[in-house]
Amino acid sequence: MSDCVFCKIVAGQIPSTKVHEDELTLAFMDIGEVNPGHVLVAVRPHVENIYGLNDVLAAAVFRTTARVARAVKKAYSPEGVTLYQANGAAAGQTVFHFHLHLVPRYDRDGLRLTWPTKNPPREQLEANAAKLRAALE
Ligand code: AMP
Ligand code: ZN
Repeated sequence: MSDCVFCKIVAGQIPSTKVHEDELTLAFMDIGEVNPGHVLVAVRPHVENIYGLNDVLAAAVFRTTARVARAVKKAYSPEGVTLYQANGAAAGQTVFHFHLHLVPRYDRDGLRLTWPTKNPPREQLEANAAKLRAALE
């Protein structure tokens, strides 16, 4: 897509700092890095979000993510690592080309995702799961 910033990175039309690239994926440094070693893993083709990933792309992007995660661990020895992946503006997505964040984590590093737990009764979980099973393709 001509106005997509990650398509421009994939095509080499704008600068990026690459960590790894292969036929289907590209891993590069997040320009807004939260902690040193914050990497984005993107798919090469313009796919807006997770709903557009076929099995081959989905496998490729997670294989690259696991490989780069091992590199992050080796290079930075973080206390933890968070995978963050947003689909849709409501979920926090700002670049609409599928990518996943690998963020090295440290105690009290300031990164927060609030988790408003509801703890519904088991029957509610069963109803939710039944709805999802019926929707599986
Ligand atoms: P998301 O909110 O998951 O869509 O995150 C998009 C991420 O892309 C943000 O963390 C930005 O800092 C990052 N980003 C945007 N433009 C660039 C760029 N040109 N090079 C590297 N990272 C970028
Ligand atoms: Zn794109």
